[in-house]
Amino acid sequence: SRPRKVSLRLHPYGEGRILLLSRDVTQVEQAETMRRDFVANVSHEIRTPLTVLSGFIETLQNLDLPLEERRRYLQTMAQQAQRMQTLVSDLLTLSRLEGSPLPGASEWTEVGQLLAQCEQEAKAVAVSLNKQLEIRFTAAPAAAISGAAVELTSAMSNLVTNAVRYTPSGEAIDIAADVLPDGRFQFCVRDTGPGIAAEHLPRLTERFYRVDRSRSRETGGTGLGLAIVKHVVQRHGGELKIESMVGVGSTFCILLPATRVRPLAITPAGSAA
Ligand code: ADP
Repeated sequence: SRPRKVSLRLHPYGEGRILLLSRDVTQVEQAETMRRDFVANVSHEIRTPLTVLSGFIETLQNLDLPLEERRRYLQTMAQQAQRMQTLVSDLLTLSRLEGSPLPGASEWTEVGQLLAQCEQEAKAVAVSLNKQLEIRFTAAPAAAISGAAVELTSAMSNLVTNAVRYTPSGEAIDIAADVLPDGRFQFCVRDTGPGIAAEHLPRLTERFYRVDRSRSRETGGTGLGLAIVKHVVQRHGGELKIESMVGVGSTFCILLPATRVRPLAITPAGSAA
């Protein structure tokens, strides 16, 4: 185990006596370091697009620039502004997830509906990145899931869009949803992307942790996606499992407890429900 840090304080305590107060501050210090790192990261992530924007604003003040050049600069500026918007929206999502209790478990959503939204999002991201990908879905189990549907969809979509972003054009992504024999719900996304070395896996869900900074940026990543997924899954009492091999690909699975899964009666075609 890691060495612990203890703070010791001496207090005068009556006639010639001294009281020694000791307090374990390991966790307090860790939390403080994490907070400082987080602020530094956010500042850095905001400063980069801002620098680009200010540079282009200065350039555009030259009124002699040809129209075509102006148009190109404006396009880059719009991209950078978009990047800041995505970052801020991910930050707000995270802070909402950290600060609020999970709304009552009364909301039930059909698995098919959750998957349909993921599919739409995956296709939209593939188009925006100009990628030809085969996205294969296995049939949805006839079940409903309880929890915050918006959060669950966003967690599932995050895994799917990561797969789209990190898989080379021309390859395939497999998405499977199952109810396991023990009643738990499992949602897995398998890709044939670059894979992730084992040493990175434990840190992957940390805010702003990226294996390859430039690749993440190029494809519009904020470095917050998996942190959001982890929070959502934990709030729902589930877990996130990651398996990956460099050069082969990665599989990300969300598991939700059986208490959140309700099988739906399958009605034979044509009969009344
Ligand atoms: P980002 O916005 O950078 O993708 P995430 O939190 O979603 O942030 O992911 C953290 C890091 O994990 C990424 O920067 C990337 O290095 C790695 N990663 C996530 N998903 C995949 C994947 N499907 N294949 C390979 N690497 C991945």
